[in-house]
Amino acid sequence: MPRRLGPVPSTHYEHLTSDSAYGSSRIRVSQPHPINLERPATGAHRATLACATCGDPVEITVLSLAATKLWRLGWLLASALSLILVVTCVLGVKSTVPDGGALPLFTLGLLSGILLSVYAILHWRHEDGVRGPGLPWRSGRHYVRHFWAGPR
Ligand SMILES: [Zn+2]
Repeated sequence: MPRRLGPVPSTHYEHLTSDSAYGSSRIRVSQPHPINLERPATGAHRATLACATCGDPVEITVLSLAATKLWRLGWLLASALSLILVVTCVLGVKSTVPDGGALPLFTLGLLSGILLSVYAILHWRHEDGVRGPGLPWRSGRHYVRHFWAGPR
């Protein structure tokens, strides 16, 4: 089930305290801070918070309940479409096995469908209507951790 939506998002923003590389491993340690911003009645509200660790400005956008639910619906639709792609490619692989002509295409579609469905299902489950600084793969010193943010 997706996470519960409240008047204040349960997602935290993170201050990156250390980023170390050991051979091929990378260890990133961050300090989570709550986003104490009320959701707007409609649309989106953008605010600049002062980071609780370093005091630097952190730009956060909080979506309304309706906008967040719309994003969730979009992620659910993307999940369904990518799962349909997976099923179509599995059936295609089974039907093309004797000659194998379209096998690379169906294999590519199958792998893409699996990756897209996992990505979309995770977003559907964790969508909290918060957009933070940095890119989704957490570049920069401040970011919003959308997945695996601990107990809710
Ligand atoms: Zn900071």
